[in-house]
Amino acid sequence: MENNTYPFVNTPLPYEYNALEPFIDEKTMKLHHDKHLQTYIDNLNSVMEKYPGLQKLSLEMLIRASRRLPVQIQSTVSNNAGGVFNHRFFFNGLTNPASKEPHGKLSISINRFFSDYECFASEFKKAALSVFGSGYAWLVYGNNRLKIVTTPNQNSPIEQGLCPILCIDVWEHAYYLKHYNVRSEYIEDWFNIINWEEAEQNFLNCINHRK
Ligand code: MN
Repeated sequence: MENNTYPFVNTPLPYEYNALEPFIDEKTMKLHHDKHLQTYIDNLNSVMEKYPGLQKLSLEMLIRASRRLPVQIQSTVSNNAGGVFNHRFFFNGLTNPASKEPHGKLSISINRFFSDYECFASEFKKAALSVFGSGYAWLVYGNNRLKIVTTPNQNSPIEQGLCPILCIDVWEHAYYLKHYNVRSEYIEDWFNIINWEEAEQNFLNCINHRK
């Protein structure tokens, strides 16, 4: 991944701020990328600045190794590195117009583990709705199977050695301006802008790098 070590920089979105309209509005995308993600980047850089010995570690390494970092910075690094990784992953996983359903190897695997796309979508939506407060729902690969997991706050499935394929950010800042408190409508809208090519690529990386 580009820009993956200190000092972290907020790379532009891979599309225009208004590209996801009408499913996610321009103002939400501007605030989400330029303010929320920027804050995680700034906070991560400001703690890393004081620890030159850690500056060579990649974003993923910082997340996976957070419990081995100096205790006084563990939660700051974990929250903010997670915030950077999760947001980049979420933004890169969106496109408009999008294909309606997965294809390729991922499609075959979704049918294998969830019966069909409809069952997968319904289970994923249920998981995304079930996140209490702030967090994410993910499609991940681990132990030779696909599964749906949720993470609270800015925790990331890579902490648990799971390989992410797809995610939805269900923090209220991701949808409140357009969907108000109605998370279910935001999730429905999100299904229209999933970048299935990116998800397929993520899945291929997961199965090629399994231990
Ligand atoms: Mn967010």
